Amino acid sequence: MTNDNRKPTTNDAGNPIASDEHSLTVGRDGPIVLHDHYLIEQMANFNRERIPERQPHAKGGGAFGHFEVTCDVSQYTKAAVFQPNTRTETLIRFSTVAGERGSPDTWRDPRGFALKFYTSEGNFDIVGNNTPVFFLRDPMKFQHFIRSQKRRADTNLRDHDMQWDFWTLSPESAHQVAWLMGDRGIPKSWRHMNGYSSHTYMWVNDAGERFWVKYHFKTDQGIECLTQEEADRLAGEDGDYHQRDLYNAIERGDYPSWTLYMQIMPFEDAETYRFNPFDLTKVWPHEDYPLIEVGRLTLDRNPTDYHTEIEQAAFEPSNMVPGTGFSPDKMLLARVFAYADAHRARLGVNYKQIPVNAPKVPVHSYSKDGAMRVQNVSDPVYAPNSKGGPQADSEAFPESATWSNSGELVREAYTLRQDDDDWGQAHALVRHVMDDAQRDRLVSNVVGHLSGGVSQPVLERAFEYWRNIDQEVGDRIADAFKNAN
Ligand code: NDP
Repeated sequence: MTNDNRKPTTNDAGNPIASDEHSLTVGRDGPIVLHDHYLIEQMANFNRERIPERQPHAKGGGAFGHFEVTCDVSQYTKAAVFQPNTRTETLIRFSTVAGERGSPDTWRDPRGFALKFYTSEGNFDIVGNNTPVFFLRDPMKFQHFIRSQKRRADTNLRDHDMQWDFWTLSPESAHQVAWLMGDRGIPKSWRHMNGYSSHTYMWVNDAGERFWVKYHFKTDQGIECLTQEEADRLAGEDGDYHQRDLYNAIERGDYPSWTLYMQIMPFEDAETYRFNPFDLTKVWPHEDYPLIEVGRLTLDRNPTDYHTEIEQAAFEPSNMVPGTGFSPDKMLLARVFAYADAHRARLGVNYKQIPVNAPKVPVHSYSKDGAMRVQNVSDPVYAPNSKGGPQADSEAFPESATWSNSGELVREAYTLRQDDDDWGQAHALVRHVMDDAQRDRLVSNVVGHLSGGVSQPVLERAFEYWRNIDQEVGDRIADAFKNAN
């Protein structure tokens, strides 16, 4: 726009204002007056610009795109979004976990991989990570885990001692920690990493048949990672390296894409599988459940306003469409509550009316009022009613994504099966997936991390932890640490 045809500035009520530069004063040199409401509006708005950052996953960025189904998986799910040739608008947000909003993109950390599909059956969200597993299997420990990754009370510093103290007292973390300390713990960019649902979910087909499923979004750009040295340098030179990379790639028309594959387990297999298939610290080996191609996710549009489109984006696993459902994964079931609750706390109870969170289909809910409600509510405001209000259709939309459980109320770990242990899959990763060069870098990364102020006896526990994962790697870590310190 040229300067000649610029629009006149208004205040937030649309009233034209007289100056962008001068406050209203008593004479040129006199005091500012209280009724300069435009100045006050500018100052008051500025004071309120920041909203609470996410706890965790505060630092991130995202983009819009679409998901196209290229293969027929209708035998497994009736969800409209997964029917052949369906194309659905999507939003993605990538993030680190522990760092605050201004923290460097290249800190070693899992990355969030959160997706919103604006489907013809309402919004469908997958709040995944770039890793197929997680540090924990019981949500009681999640809050404590995140606190151990963030800052101490006294120094307000992040603290490797606190991190290893928690990890070594929580052996179920071994698989995720081994993954994190390996090459994939620092992706080269958000475009060069995979996304996983990590959790097991359910799919239900038209005939009501149920399947347990895991989502794998494999990057079409290829996996690329940063070494610790590269990441450390970039953290100083360009803290927003990943954000910049994604934005610039989309601006130049180099649209990143991911191919979605599923692992699909027949419903009955879960009963007898050799380990608990709902344990979030474990993958399903590809040999047992091979990847089945579904479609492609492409990102082709940058947000134009980071705050309204990304900072206020609210992803939640409770956004489920017919043909999809939860599983008995305890972490997932807790997240179904926790995400919506976090959004209510951060954005207000009517966060789903913010345009980026609003579905592209009509909403006929009985939610009413509350702070910042902007869509009109119409009568009747209660159900059941005889006044023509919305009515649930249990024949068309039965509660079909279900499973049965029985037992006393207990506070106990999952029942152990033959192959349920904390170390086996971490060992497979370190010994059978990584090659020699990757293992060398793993050892170096762990030694570097342990050298960041980890105290006795946490250190000894850390060496033991690694020996439990892999005897040789554990010995190498202990030796290299002692030589270096
Ligand atoms: P497979 O040999 O079939 O699969 C190995 C997987 O490991 C591949 O998906 C590969 O991803 C991924 N991978 C390769 N290098 C690394 C690395 N440095 N860090 C993390 N992942 C890597 O074996 P299994 O399915 O039997 O699994 C063996 C181990 O592989 C597991 O214990 C787990 O740690 C890891 N893994 C397994 C996944 C699964 O869903 N089964 C998914 C991701 C990791 P890619 O093809 O993209 O190179």
